[in-house]
Amino acid sequence: MEIYLDANATTPVLPQAREAALAAMAEDFGNPSSIHSTGLKARALMDGVRARARRVLGASTGQLLFLSGATEGIQTAVLSALSALRERPQRPELLLYGATEHKAVPEAIKHWNALLGLNLQLLAIPVGRDGRHDLDWLRRHAPRAGLVCTMAANNETGVISDLDGIEAALAGSPALWMVDGVQALGKLPLRLAERRIDYAPFSGHKLYAPKGIGMLYVRAGAPFTPLLAGGGQEGALRSGTENMSGIAALGAVLAALEDGNTFRDAATLAAWRDRLAAALQQAFPGLVFNAPAELCLPTTLNFAVPGVSSKLLLDLFDAAEMRVSGGSACSASKAQPSYVLEAMGLPAWQTASALRLSFGPLMDAGFVDEACARIRVCGESLRASCLDPNAPGHALPAEGLSRLVVDGACCYVLADAASRRAVVIDPLPELTERLAQWLRCQDYALAAVLDTHSHGDHASSAAELLATLQAPHADVEALGWPRAAETIELGRLKLTRLALPGHTQDSTAYLLHEAEQLRLAFVGDTVMPGALGRSDFEQSAPQDFARSLRRLEQAVGPHALLLPGHDYDDRFATTLAVECAAQPLLGDLLGGRIDDAAFAAAKAELEQGLALTEYQTIACGARVDANGSRACSELSPAGLVQMAREQPQLVLVDVREPYEQRLGQAPELGTTVQREAVALSGLPNALTRWLALPAETPVVFFCRSGNRSAQAAQALRRLGHPQAWSLGGGLALWPRATAAADAAFAI
Ligand code: PLP
Repeated sequence: MEIYLDANATTPVLPQAREAALAAMAEDFGNPSSIHSTGLKARALMDGVRARARRVLGASTGQLLFLSGATEGIQTAVLSALSALRERPQRPELLLYGATEHKAVPEAIKHWNALLGLNLQLLAIPVGRDGRHDLDWLRRHAPRAGLVCTMAANNETGVISDLDGIEAALAGSPALWMVDGVQALGKLPLRLAERRIDYAPFSGHKLYAPKGIGMLYVRAGAPFTPLLAGGGQEGALRSGTENMSGIAALGAVLAALEDGNTFRDAATLAAWRDRLAAALQQAFPGLVFNAPAELCLPTTLNFAVPGVSSKLLLDLFDAAEMRVSGGSACSASKAQPSYVLEAMGLPAWQTASALRLSFGPLMDAGFVDEACARIRVCGESLRASCLDPNAPGHALPAEGLSRLVVDGACCYVLADAASRRAVVIDPLPELTERLAQWLRCQDYALAAVLDTHSHGDHASSAAELLATLQAPHADVEALGWPRAAETIELGRLKLTRLALPGHTQDSTAYLLHEAEQLRLAFVGDTVMPGALGRSDFEQSAPQDFARSLRRLEQAVGPHALLLPGHDYDDRFATTLAVECAAQPLLGDLLGGRIDDAAFAAAKAELEQGLALTEYQTIACGARVDANGSRACSELSPAGLVQMAREQPQLVLVDVREPYEQRLGQAPELGTTVQREAVALSGLPNALTRWLALPAETPVVFFCRSGNRSAQAAQALRRLGHPQAWSLGGGLALWPRATAAADAAFAI
């Protein structure tokens, strides 16, 4: 069963609303402007819904228009207000909007302010740490304002605005006042006509009506300019034939609000919110809530877990079939810190780790029980992976290689579960806490912290990491290699080193051997996928670069996996053979067609005048070949089932992280195939093994949304396995037998 906890983004459609919409499409399908009986029935329906809406919103006077949603309502309100300001003999100076408004508001104001040639100054009304408007600030600026926009309740935090306080602050101001009522509909009594609110937009899909239907309240006497002119519908205030199925559905929701039997009351919802909050606190010790519960809608929780990113939590919850949101839905895909929480002055970690959990008043007690149980399971899974720095772990020791990436820079951790010893290669300052927590939680001792070279773009954080772990002092050389040691042994694994001056004088590769066989090499910036490291820094040794590349080839051969210090476009690894094909200069050198001096000269010319950012673009530039492009390597769910039937040797790989794998389901193919779990962060562990498969053996990766699996498939293709595939859309689009049943619970 899916636990849908993202009601502030949108809701499913109430069964009565679906029926009403269907009836309006199938039976009462008339155009309310027609004067025959079918049309008259439609008009009566529409008038009935409008009357209900007036009662629910406390809008006995003024206009109540049907339109497509809140964004249109906001445009109409802003256009109306600004058109009127343009005509005022005394132009106001300011247009004010709450700093935490939905982006539709400031963007609409900017748009119309410019288009109408008003060019008034826009100012965001600051909010306090509790998310509420700074009323003193508003009082001071209100006399010079022409329009003030303040939402009734915030979509990210659920913080309810003090509308009476705002009204008092506006006393004597000539400003028009818009209140975005989207998140308040059905949850707060707005008493629109009693207040001086001039405009209030609403959206049906936030309260169990379909998308595409909304309302706009306009106070009697408030200025109005239609956004849409045409056939004169809605008293010529909003032309266009009405969305009758949407209006009918909205009517059913309003009827449910009025009859009082369908939706839970505020006290019940608050009690359930508190249960969810308690379950979260228990599952994630250290969790902080981002807004005070007593000021919030009882249906929204916004929180952050120190040291755990919103993306990680979102993946984790999704694996447990819980749909929540990081920040707001619209900005979630961009993974940017929440501007709402930033405006509240929360610290950066909190704005970057925020997660929102929201539900609607249709929820029931069984749903809350299930949600709390899943939250507990999510907490356990995170602890079992040593990923919650606030909770003591009891993890299975990780084994093999893991990679962590910060802005394209790669750090590797090599762990041997049997000996509980680990080596970190190229530690990054941003990862110190995370690495220390992970090593401590799994009881790993550090055999060494190595750098592949003295980095130009960041200082080594080896000392910081060792200090954080309070590791005993070890006698090591400059890059962290134990003095006088030939090898570093980790159980069956053994590291040796190879000097490769070029990118820097001290550039060094670390070769990983297992049972005396070379498994792979950490090559730092000597070879990156698609590029060679620069050699025009002060600490570079350009004349040695060619010799180092030949030495590397001698040591590892053309096909050994090379793990880079930078990976700007998720290629994970490369080989000299792959790079020779992609980079003519390298191919010429290793193919014996040019000598060292010619190589150095050509390389210097290539680097001349290149800014670092351009260089990074080049490293990403030669990237996707015809086979590597995502569309070519994606399988549809049906395609995967068919491929598994036709090619039973197929290998199906779950590339989600262990904390998700533990919770989530895998696609059921109806036939037996070899299944593996190799998290994307540990992909290099298995690349060589997959590359050794017969060329026709399909390797199909899957993940939650299709992104990580696409990266894995492309990486394997680039390295030379043509039958590397990903499941397009991931598990999210995998057909589930219970989809219809789930929908009923999706509240
Ligand atoms: N205002 C708020 C507070 C919202 O939460 C949303 C939707 O996320 C909107 C406006 C935009 O509404 P619509 O999707 O109906 O255009």
